[in-house]
Amino acid sequence: MGQARLHVELLRHTPRPEEVVAMGAKLCYSPANIDDLKAGIESKDQSAFVDKLVSMGHMSPVEHVTFTFGVEGISRACSHQIVRHRVASYSQQSQRYVGEQTSKHEGTIFEYVIPPTVVDAGRAEWFEEKMKMIQEWYDELNTALGDAGEKSQEDARFLLPNAAETKIVITMNARELLHFFRVRCCNRAQWEIRAMAEQMLLKVKEAAPKLFVNAGPGCVTGKCPEGKMTCGKSEEMREKFLNM
Ligand SMILES: Cc1cc2nc3c(=O)[nH]c(=O)nc-3n(C[C@H](O)[C@H](O)[C@H](O)COP(=O)(O)OP(=O)(O)OC[C@H]3O[C@@H](n4cnc5c(N)ncnc54)[C@H](O)[C@@H]3O)c2cc1C
Repeated sequence: MGQARLHVELLRHTPRPEEVVAMGAKLCYSPANIDDLKAGIESKDQSAFVDKLVSMGHMSPVEHVTFTFGVEGISRACSHQIVRHRVASYSQQSQRYVGEQTSKHEGTIFEYVIPPTVVDAGRAEWFEEKMKMIQEWYDELNTALGDAGEKSQEDARFLLPNAAETKIVITMNARELLHFFRVRCCNRAQWEIRAMAEQMLLKVKEAAPKLFVNAGPGCVTGKCPEGKMTCGKSEEMREKFLNM
């Protein structure tokens, strides 16, 4: 307990994701029937279909495959940003049912995330002290509300900070993931969601390398979409994400 560490796992994904996407494409672009699709699609043809879809911006076949991640060691500040992505499914650990009383933490306090800037500013200990104070307030309020499991925890949690660690299961289809990587791997995104998105991207590149070959921030495949807000590092970013 105490300081949390980012942990991202790809729990499950649609089996043979690139073949499934190629099936959708083949049905669109050739006189194939369902039995032809069931016979399977050779690896080289899968690449050709995936390339064709991406170059044409014909993205509906990419929606047929989903990826499910388990993420822990992120802050509530980060999870709040994640769940803004609506074309996805989420299951997040509840602060109602899972209490944060000191008694549940083996002698320490609830888990939290310290931003690197706080550490760099020499404020890590100061920050930890504040977390301990919050723990005391939480315990005090939870007791005052009757220490009644979810009934008291649901209101004691109002004192917990954005830094509080959370765990979440996320399912996105490949089209939404490509969009998610475009906005959340960008240098303009907040550091924590960016670190998480990069971990997710590494995992899906292993599972479906053709599908995610050009995945990453908008500048990987074209001009930086951020206009005046550009970080000015498009070339560096392109290099990084294409060689991931
Ligand atoms: C750098 C950065 C800064 C941000 N700052 C803020 C901020 O200050 N305040 C704030 O509130 N949010 C902020 N956000 C969140 C942002 O506004 C989006 O809510 C979030 O990125 C989810 O993206 P989305 O809406 O494109 O995509 P998703 O919800 O993932 O949807 C994917 C795509 O589906 C389509 N779509 C989904 N739902 C609809 C709909 N209802 N109608 C039409 N099309 C739809 C859109 O094309 C959308 O791009 C920020 C995001 C970033 C990356």
